[in-house]
Amino acid sequence: MSLQTKYLLNESQMPKFWYNIQADLPSPAPAVLHPGTLQPVGPDDLAPLFPMELIMQEVSTEREIEIPEPVRDVYRAWRPAPLYRAHRLEKALGTPAKIFYKYEGVSPAGSHKPNTAVAQAFYHKKAGVKRLTTETGAGQWGTALSYAGALFGLQVEIYQVRVSYDQKPYRRAVMETYGARCVASPSNETVYGRSVLAKTPDHPGSLGIAISEAVEMAVQREDTKYALGSVLNHVLLHQTIIGLEAMEQMQMADAWPDVVLACAGGGSNFAGLAFPFIGDGLRGGQKPRIVAVEPAACPSLTRGKYAYDFGDTGRMTPLSKMHTLGSQFTPPGFHAGGLRYHGMAPLVSHLKELGLLEAVAYNQVECFEAGVLFARNEGIVPAPEANHAIKGAIEEALRCKREGKSETILFNLSGHGHFDMVAYQKYFAGELSDESYDEKELAASLAGLPSVPA
Ligand SMILES: *Cc1c(COP(=O)(O)O)cnc(C)c1O
Repeated sequence: MSLQTKYLLNESQMPKFWYNIQADLPSPAPAVLHPGTLQPVGPDDLAPLFPMELIMQEVSTEREIEIPEPVRDVYRAWRPAPLYRAHRLEKALGTPAKIFYKYEGVSPAGSHKPNTAVAQAFYHKKAGVKRLTTETGAGQWGTALSYAGALFGLQVEIYQVRVSYDQKPYRRAVMETYGARCVASPSNETVYGRSVLAKTPDHPGSLGIAISEAVEMAVQREDTKYALGSVLNHVLLHQTIIGLEAMEQMQMADAWPDVVLACAGGGSNFAGLAFPFIGDGLRGGQKPRIVAVEPAACPSLTRGKYAYDFGDTGRMTPLSKMHTLGSQFTPPGFHAGGLRYHGMAPLVSHLKELGLLEAVAYNQVECFEAGVLFARNEGIVPAPEANHAIKGAIEEALRCKREGKSETILFNLSGHGHFDMVAYQKYFAGELSDESYDEKELAASLAGLPSVPA
C-alpha cells in the first residue's frame, strides 16, 4: 500500500460560491449592538469601517454567495488546496483511525488567511478605498493582507502586537516586501496607543489593543478603511472554501469524517472547515462531531463567558455576543500568536450554545510535541497555531485506538511554521513552558464586561 495519498481537485472543481451558515441556523445569532445606544447596529453604523458589500455579507441569510471572478482568479494561484491522508502518522500512533488533513499552508502567505484577505481587498478596491489599516498578531494576517493589498493596489498599514514584532522580525520583512508599513503596537501613533504606553511603557501588546489602534486610524480618513482577519461573519464566510473543497475531496477518497477539528483563535479557519459540514448536517445530511481546539492559556470557548463584549481593548467597536475572556484581558505571550485573542467569533459562539460543536483546550508544550511528531511523519513543519489542531486529532486517534474504532478524522492544517522556528528551537532547548493566565486578571476582566439588559 502506498503511504502517500494526496487528493487534488482541478481548477474547474474550485467552488464558485462561499457557504453562508446563516441560511441554515435553527435560530439566528444575537444582534450586534451599538455601544452607546445598545440598539442593533445598522449598515450605516459600520460604513466608516467596511465597504457596503462586506457589510451586506455580514448580515446576509442567502445560502450561497458568489465568489467574484477576480477573486477566483487570485485563488487559482494555490487553490484548490490539497487534502492528504496522514498514513505515516496513523502508523506512528498505531491507530485504526483514518486521519485526513486539509493543507492551507500552500498559499503565498503560508496560511488560510489569504482566502479572506484577497476577497476583502477586492471589495474595498471596488468601493474606491485607497488605504487599509489592520492589526496582526503572529504576522500571518498582516502578511496575507499585505499580499492582497499589493495585488489590488491598496496601501496597507499594520499594527503588529509588540511581542510578535520583536520575536518575529522576518514576518515584518515579508510584509514590507509586499509594500506594507508595520508599526509595533501599542504605538505612539494613536490616542489609544499613547494612553496604553503612558500607563505601561513596556506593554507587550495584544490583538485587542492593536485592533483599537487600527480602527482609530481608519475612522479618521475618508479614503481609509479597516480589515479584520477573523471573528466577523464575512471573514468566516470567505473561509468556507476550505470545507467546501474538503467535502469534494473526502468524496474522492470514498470517506466521510466522523470528527472534524481545527484550531480556534478568532474562529475563522475552524469555521471555514467546519461550517459546510455543520450546514450539511442541519439540512439532513450526516452529523460529524465538530471540535474546536484552543490554547489553555487563552481559552475563550472553554473558560470564557457567553456575553456581549467589545471586539477591542479600547472599547471602540460595536458589542457582539460571544464567548469572551473580557476585552481588558491580556493573554500570556505564548507562541501561537494567532490564538491570543480574548473573544471568539459570534457565529462559532452561537453554534456552541446550540450544542452544534464541542471545544477542548491544550497547553503549548504538548501541542509542540504533537507538531514535531507530525513533522517527522508527514514532512510539513506546522504553524504553532496548527499544532493545536494536530494535538486534537492525535487525541481522537488515540481514543479510537483505545476503543478499537476505525473512525475517520479530518482536521485543518491552517499554515506552515517556517517563520516560527525560534519557537521550535526553544521547544527543543526545553525553554518552552506552559504559560498560564492570571486567574485574578481574568476575574477582573470578566467583572468589567459591559452590562447589556437581556
Ligand atoms: C491566524 C491563524 C490562526 C488563528 O485564526 P483563526 O481565525 O482562529 O483561524 C490559526 N492558524 C494559523 C496558521 C493562523 O495564521
